[in-house]
Amino acid sequence: VKPKSILSTILLVCCMAIRLCLCSSSVVSSLKALHVQGQFSFDGNEFAATDFGNQFHFLPSAVLHPKKVSDIAATIKHVWQMGPASGLTVAARGHGHSLQGQAQAPQGIVINMESLSGQEMQVHRGKFPYVDVPAGELWINILHECLKYGLAPKSWTDYLHLTVGGTLSNAGISGQAFRHGPQISNVHQLEVVTGKGEVVVCSEEKNADLFHAVLGGLGQFGIITRARISLEPAPKMVKWIRVLYSDFSTFARDQEHLISAENTFDYIEGLVIVNKTGLINNWRASFNPEDPEQASQFVSDGRTLFCLELTKNFNPDEATKINKEIKSLLSQLSYIPSTLFVTEVSYVEFLDRVHAAELKLRSKGLWELPHPWLNLLVPRSKIHSFAEGVFGSILTDTNNGPVLVYPVNKSKWDNRTSFVTPEEDIFYLVAFLPHAVPSSTENNGLQHLLSINKRILNFCEAAHLGVKQYLPYYTTQEEWRSHYGPRWEVLVQRKSAYDPLAILAPGQRIFQKAI
Ligand code: FAD
Repeated sequence: VKPKSILSTILLVCCMAIRLCLCSSSVVSSLKALHVQGQFSFDGNEFAATDFGNQFHFLPSAVLHPKKVSDIAATIKHVWQMGPASGLTVAARGHGHSLQGQAQAPQGIVINMESLSGQEMQVHRGKFPYVDVPAGELWINILHECLKYGLAPKSWTDYLHLTVGGTLSNAGISGQAFRHGPQISNVHQLEVVTGKGEVVVCSEEKNADLFHAVLGGLGQFGIITRARISLEPAPKMVKWIRVLYSDFSTFARDQEHLISAENTFDYIEGLVIVNKTGLINNWRASFNPEDPEQASQFVSDGRTLFCLELTKNFNPDEATKINKEIKSLLSQLSYIPSTLFVTEVSYVEFLDRVHAAELKLRSKGLWELPHPWLNLLVPRSKIHSFAEGVFGSILTDTNNGPVLVYPVNKSKWDNRTSFVTPEEDIFYLVAFLPHAVPSSTENNGLQHLLSINKRILNFCEAAHLGVKQYLPYYTTQEEWRSHYGPRWEVLVQRKSAYDPLAILAPGQRIFQKAI
């Protein structure tokens, strides 16, 4: 390398650094002059450069803690009016449970949506009940509010300490999705601030294109400030059932049978278990074996097993009827008989189950570790090849976090939204959810876990499985184009209609703001 080129590189870096400093100091002074009812913070914003994934850390220049929707509109309008030259971007931050910096805005403005959550939730009873909520509200709080009226949302995520805006920007998938669709299929109306700072109310009937764009839109077309969510009568109790299979085909056949049946369970998920010891013994802490003697003879060690997880909702006066129904449903399945475990918990306890696990992990310092998660949607016709290649070969253990696998019905997804699914009537969600132990060079180290993810993705590509990523992470626009396939053009049109300067959600790395 010539000394002259080293010198010019140093000069270039210095110029860029000076430009960044000037840029961020002019951002600070221009935001200080902006009239908002909430407030901007310019220091102590490290929380906005952190997320659950704990791998990406980009500090913003400012964080807005909005009090009113008009604060968000004024801020975005301000950035819009500064034009493309400012290079400034804006990211809504829900509960910051993204995995790869999707809610971060390097040198930009992060909007702390939770400070809007103090606004009132309004439950509407009647034949088709619904609740109006601020988008920064956590699902757990919505559940508690709705339960005061004997109601609850229909579709959930496994973990409820996530915001409405955060999950609606993705999809919101859990064991109820086979019947009700994801959370984005259970919304009647949204209030959105677009990338031009306009506040727009949208629904199927009004501004329908924006409504569909924002649902599953990865924050690209507007910031959701309020949502109207469909409700149903809430049950009081839940029968929670687990059974094991040693053969993937039988497990998947039973899952598909259950999600297609008229009369079925209320929640259907599944887990892959590889090389785990003492599995059934761990269950005993919270589940009861149907046949204790047989269960005690079951040995799980070293085998790859598949756990079907089911629930049936009920009210205390329906216990006998529900037990009969469960017996009849279970009689149609081919699980290993000695592995039937059942428990009974309140509806809230069931829905908030991951929070109970969170508290345990936090107490052991395991919650704040890096989470190299990988979520995939696999078409039904390819799930067996996937299982053989991944569960049978790439995955050597699942001791570092759960691996979920369960099918959903595509008919419950609305293809006018921004969400893209595989092109088949049934597809599976497969979620690898490990935590990494820092500076470990073993199987639980970050680099090792990331390399497993890469191997899984490479395998899917080489075998042409037609897999889509859920909570997608790509680094090039080429990859995004291929993710969206024929829907890419719609995405680009919507971007130019609602956020033409590409101000919003830069952490998704789909569009770059022109500078
Ligand atoms: P953030 O991480 O804050 O934001 C996510 C993205 O949405 C960012 O791009 C952000 O800019 C954008 N955004 C946030 N708020 C808004 C808004 N109001 N308007 C527009 N854009 C916005 N997902 C499932 O589907 N099913 C599950 O069962 C499930 N379980 C999970 C369990 C755990 C422990 C964790 C950590 C995540 C889980 N997720 C699940 C993933 C989760 O749904 C997403 O990570 C979701 O984005 C988190 O919500 P958040 O409020 O933390 O969003």
